[in-house]
Amino acid sequence: MTDTRIYLSPPDVSDVERKLLLAAFDANWVAPVGPDLDAFESQVAELVGVPHAVALASGTAALHLALVAAGVRRGDTVLVPSFTFAATANAVMYLGARPVFLDSTPESWNVDPALVAEELRARNARGRLPRAVIAVDMYGQCADYRPLLDACDRYGVPLIEDAAEALGATYHGRPAGSFGLAGVLSFNGNKIITTGGGGMLLTGDDRVARQARHLATQAREPVPHYEHRTVGYNYRLSNLLAAVGRGQVQRLGEMIACRRETARYYRQALDLPGLTFMPVAGYGRPNWWLTCLLVDPDEFGADRDTVLARLARHNIEARPAWKPMHLQPAFHDCPRRGGAVSADLFHRGVCLPSGSALTDHDRERVVSAVREG
Ligand SMILES: *Cc1c(COP(=O)(O)O)cnc(C)c1O
Repeated sequence: MTDTRIYLSPPDVSDVERKLLLAAFDANWVAPVGPDLDAFESQVAELVGVPHAVALASGTAALHLALVAAGVRRGDTVLVPSFTFAATANAVMYLGARPVFLDSTPESWNVDPALVAEELRARNARGRLPRAVIAVDMYGQCADYRPLLDACDRYGVPLIEDAAEALGATYHGRPAGSFGLAGVLSFNGNKIITTGGGGMLLTGDDRVARQARHLATQAREPVPHYEHRTVGYNYRLSNLLAAVGRGQVQRLGEMIACRRETARYYRQALDLPGLTFMPVAGYGRPNWWLTCLLVDPDEFGADRDTVLARLARHNIEARPAWKPMHLQPAFHDCPRRGGAVSADLFHRGVCLPSGSALTDHDRERVVSAVREG
């Protein structure tokens, strides 16, 4: 096993980020405040086409503050897709609220808008509307926002967009992160762009932006002494990390192009009976964050775990698709609607290496490992 390891989605940083980082360091802007933080926020706000961007320590922190902005409190319920990363549901739990897990549609692997509408209708009939709905843009593909927003607007329930995986994607031409009351981005090490750890809250609502900034800086009142009228958090992003983010945003286009090429290559080279790729919905353009496929064991002659084992044997990191929240021990007592689709995605889904520095040789190694046998 002499081949170097291929990772699922490793950081892709260049001399551009290095120079910006060192310039911030040399200027002594080594704090959660500074010109790079301001510039990074304006850059992303412009890219996504929203008036306000608040840079935070993580995507999870951004979800937490978005839920606070939506008015979520102890005892409330929040509709959450079951097929997501745990952070989406964890943020609901931080507030003492309860997630209700909704299944995905096989057409996009995103939350099924018909289930959201039905759950809202049924809860409204009982006088028990949820305080908020979260939609997730799975693996870099937007959820179906027209019907989702229609349903939310009908009952006056705010929608939060978890676009942690989707910066650069669009829905009917409109950028991911711009839907609903607030959008959330993540800059974790494995995401489409990274600051080594970080996130952002995006919003068109002045009050939401102001509140997020306030709560993210320990809710300090703007007076010389330390005055606090409410409990705050230490959630701001470091200026050093924002400097890295500035460079990453500049390179977003080329990074998406590389991931798109990876998706194109895998889809063509693995066009085999028993393998089906995540469908690309007609309503938008993904950022191709991760390329994932489903393995039909009977048709393909090998199951998900066999495919993962083949890749592992060739020093290639791959992962099962997300294990749905309704199957997680941490959330076993939360209500749900449906769940068979996301359970099937988990049992048959494989995420293939999709990093933006992947070479032709890397892609060929992945394909031959999957095809082996
Ligand atoms: C990564 C991710 C998050 C959390 O972001 P962090 O920056 O790691 O806190 C939230 N939701 C989804 C769907 C994610 O993929």
